[in-house]
Amino acid sequence: DIPGLTRSRVSPDGRISQRDIGSKLVIVMVGLPARGKSYITKKLARYMNWLQHDTKIFNVGEKRRLVAHAMDGDHTHPVQLEGAQLAAQILMSDEAGGPSTPIIPSFSLNDAALPVPGESPATSPNEVTGGKTEGHTPVTEQTAEFFDPNNAEAARIREQCAIDTLDELLQYILVEGGSVGILDATNSTLSRRKLVMERIREKAGDHLNVLFIESICEDETLLESNMRLKLSGPDYKDKDPVASLTDFRKRVAIYQKNYVPLGDYEEKNNMPYVKVIDVGRKVNCHQIKGFLSSTAVSYLLNFNLAPRQIWITRHGESLDNVAGKIGGDSALSEKGVGYAVHLAKFVEAQRKEWDIRQRDRAAHTHFPPHPGDHTPPNPVFSAGPEGEIPDMNFCVWTSMLKRGVDTAQFFDEEEFDIKQMRMLDELNAGIMEGMTYEEIKTKYEADYKLRRQDKLAYRYPGPGGEGYLDVINRLRPVIVELERMTDHCLLITHRSVARVLLAYFMGLRRDEVADLDCPLGMLYSLEPKPYGVEFKAHRYNEKTGWFYHLPDFQLRPSAEGHL
Ligand code: ADP
Ligand code: PEP
Repeated sequence: DIPGLTRSRVSPDGRISQRDIGSKLVIVMVGLPARGKSYITKKLARYMNWLQHDTKIFNVGEKRRLVAHAMDGDHTHPVQLEGAQLAAQILMSDEAGGPSTPIIPSFSLNDAALPVPGESPATSPNEVTGGKTEGHTPVTEQTAEFFDPNNAEAARIREQCAIDTLDELLQYILVEGGSVGILDATNSTLSRRKLVMERIREKAGDHLNVLFIESICEDETLLESNMRLKLSGPDYKDKDPVASLTDFRKRVAIYQKNYVPLGDYEEKNNMPYVKVIDVGRKVNCHQIKGFLSSTAVSYLLNFNLAPRQIWITRHGESLDNVAGKIGGDSALSEKGVGYAVHLAKFVEAQRKEWDIRQRDRAAHTHFPPHPGDHTPPNPVFSAGPEGEIPDMNFCVWTSMLKRGVDTAQFFDEEEFDIKQMRMLDELNAGIMEGMTYEEIKTKYEADYKLRRQDKLAYRYPGPGGEGYLDVINRLRPVIVELERMTDHCLLITHRSVARVLLAYFMGLRRDEVADLDCPLGMLYSLEPKPYGVEFKAHRYNEKTGWFYHLPDFQLRPSAEGHL
């Protein structure tokens, strides 16, 4: 249960030990287009990385777009094209009667072990013959026809993209020391899933854990909203929205024909899976085993798409802050009380502004949408039968330390749901509680140096002494609860805890977390959006008693790295 535990050892010959293979996980996404697969993938990867399990996403659609650009001779694409150009060259040389070696290697797995009930032969990789493009648009133009399994040339390219992407994933897991690799693709046919399993077994043997995650969307409003969001995605950006929506619907219909949801086949072949229906309204699990799989699945059980805001700030200035002492449980200074007064006023005003914005938005949203209206309807905030939009609950969570609790003292308890939790307490500095950094430097020189070398891994000595990894671990339930609930929430907390919370929401790298600049007087807001988290920073102005949005703000390392 300790973050960082799954970081693998790679031997000098670059191979990972058999023992470590069992502690790794390949996640294979499954589902029709516009079912939130990429969204889930990104969120899950951010969570797993935050827990210090090195996780990377491998996206087949991205590979396909790169290959198309390379085949098209469009080398202006901003992404590195080397691999894609190579793949395109191989594909094109083969098309021109080039090398006779099969592009997709044959498979060693016994067909009887993984039988595939009747499916369109063109989608089966062993039978792809390639060549025939008559009647289809050029493969570089990836309109709906490109996804038709009867378009042999396109099917071959798509299969190759999937294999290449999976190989990169396996390289990451087996050679580069990654813990979790996520294959983000539709994988919606049995033949594709069989191909994926065979490749994994061929390269990694039977011990590598594989978890299939399927997202299903039965909610029409949500699906319609997702379809429209695709118009600003990489396949349709800057194209005519009406034609694009028609083309995308056509693509989905093509996928639908050969789509086989996870079920009997996986159950007969002991393949672990989780099926998430309508963002967790219903979840089916099959043979979930292992720490990484259960961590991923419990996270999937708990998130939602409700629009709302999460606010993070540190307590107001404390008497120990004035004295430069770390830890302790001192009261607020006079300045600190002033911060508490104005924080309550500002957040109250923000809350009102939000409610007005939402009502306004609901009044202008129609479902089904008017013809020509391409803004996604908001699936969560549709008005009630009387057109009413309920006010949202607003939670204020503080630590159990005096300076945290007192910073929330001016919030109206009728309007805000105020709670204290020990999980939000400051990192415990063990025997160094109550000391200044100068004192630590002279009295505990070795520890001081050790901490500066690798602050994230350092743990303060003495009873109760903690390190950043401990803080990550104790904040896990806080993050899961924040993801589960649909309320706004303000967290009034402390420097190390604020850093770790921001690391989760902003997907910070391991080396960025512990040195993040996070001074008193800053108020951060985070708003989950369909494409990621919208981040804003506000700075308190003592003179005016108000908070001001900093439009150009960027998170950066602290100038005083030791703090
Ligand atoms: P896909 O990768 O399946 O094509 P995306 O990840 O691009 O789809 O999803 C489009 C939108 O679906 C996301 O931006 C998000 O708003 C929404 N979404 C997220 N999770 C889910 C889910 N579990 N079910 C349905 N829609 C979801
Ligand atoms: C894609 O090409 O966008 C994609 C998701 O690939 P596939 O359907 O082959 O998984």
